[in-house]
Amino acid sequence: MSDESQELGITESKSHKPGEWYAEVVQKANLADYAPMGGFIVTKPRGYALWEAIQDALDGWFKETGVDNVYFPLFIPESFLEREKDIVEGFDPEVAWVTHGGHEELEERLAVRPTSESIIAPFMADWTRSHRDLPLRLNQWCSVVRWEATETKPFFRTKEFMWQEGHTAHADNEGAWEEVWTRLGQYERVYEDVLAIPVMRGKKPEHDKFPGADTTTTVEALMPDGKSVQGGTSHNLGQSFAEAFDITFSGEDEEDRTAYTTSWGLSWRAIGALIMTHSDDQGLVLPPTVAPTQVAIVPIWQEDTKEDVLEYSEEIAEELEDAGFRVELDDRDERNPGFKFNEHELNGVPLRLEIGPYEVEDEEVTLVHRPDNEEAVEDRDEIVDAVDEHLDEIFDKLYDAAEENLEENVREAYSPEEILGTIGKHGGYVKTSWCGDEACEEAIKEKIAAEIVMQPLEDEGGKTAGEVPEPEHDECGVCGEPADEIAYFAKSY
Ligand SMILES: [Zn+2]
Repeated sequence: MSDESQELGITESKSHKPGEWYAEVVQKANLADYAPMGGFIVTKPRGYALWEAIQDALDGWFKETGVDNVYFPLFIPESFLEREKDIVEGFDPEVAWVTHGGHEELEERLAVRPTSESIIAPFMADWTRSHRDLPLRLNQWCSVVRWEATETKPFFRTKEFMWQEGHTAHADNEGAWEEVWTRLGQYERVYEDVLAIPVMRGKKPEHDKFPGADTTTTVEALMPDGKSVQGGTSHNLGQSFAEAFDITFSGEDEEDRTAYTTSWGLSWRAIGALIMTHSDDQGLVLPPTVAPTQVAIVPIWQEDTKEDVLEYSEEIAEELEDAGFRVELDDRDERNPGFKFNEHELNGVPLRLEIGPYEVEDEEVTLVHRPDNEEAVEDRDEIVDAVDEHLDEIFDKLYDAAEENLEENVREAYSPEEILGTIGKHGGYVKTSWCGDEACEEAIKEKIAAEIVMQPLEDEGGKTAGEVPEPEHDECGVCGEPADEIAYFAKSY
């Protein structure tokens, strides 16, 4: 390995120093850079392409299910935020304020949006007159700012982050529940079918739900380092926001009624989960579904074979592109094949095609899988079908590995010592019975920084909150008092 390729490669180890390793992969695989202001990042083309892949999938599904996109201002008058604060006890985000416009001090400070409920809800009230206006389903793709002073971790912890926020109003509670399940299901689908990450669906405990919400549902993904990522949340807001913002309508009987509302959001933290889940000590690993380049073709030539090898490679590249694959033919003269292999590995290109004089002569192609270097030789004539099959196989390999990690890391424990010991030793989720008292979570949190990341929640055909399963033990795993709930403890991002 030359000095140059060493510098190109990853030097930290995922298992020993996951934090440093993560930061190195993000930078060396050209996903993002640190901005001059602490807490902000610059998203580079290859990183933004991942966000676009997530957007494309979700946006399509939103529109298929009755959602319209809108855009509300970046700034929210202070009085609007205050109004939300009055309704919603505990709503107190770290807000960035605009105090001046040009040279003038503003009469009223403007908040850089920390979330948009308080500016969207009054307009929803305006637009909702009769039952015929419902359901009203709005979504906004934007960024929000929360001025939290923590160490920057690209896509996981930044003061500004990209997300989508959906806001809907319905004539009845059943409609609101149906909405909550539809969006939670779409979040589950984007993780499982697009990002190759299996998730668990559940709800947040009472004390950790979205302020003002009836119920906060969540999809949680388990990272290889044993920590949980909250992947997306879908809230049934009941009537609290509708009452506060006067979202009312006249029913079929002409009576005035108060609507039921929901909100739901997924942020670019999904990119963080994607990187963390699949990548390795050689760099980024991506499922073919989101990889900006799915196939890298590396021709291997000597002077006397160059022309034949290149011509053969170009034909294959063209055929694959015509079939709809994202292909890069790496015919750079100044780099040797070894360097190119390393670079495509680092960048997470799922499938590499190697083409040398032997491949040309035998009318074959050598294919190498990024995740595990598995090699196969396929016929030139069948290359389109073969690439399609190999990309599917690569997706399955990634999904299966993540699923195995999840399945092996849900454990049960029924005493404080056992809960602490199990999380301390293995990480992952610990399922226990719980009395419902926040103090019992606090007792675990103080010692090991693990919290209740979710509770089971069963939906009944999308109509209600459903029957919640009973715990197998009837005493709280922490305090020993009677328990009728199940809780999953984990450390989390
Ligand atoms: Zn307890």
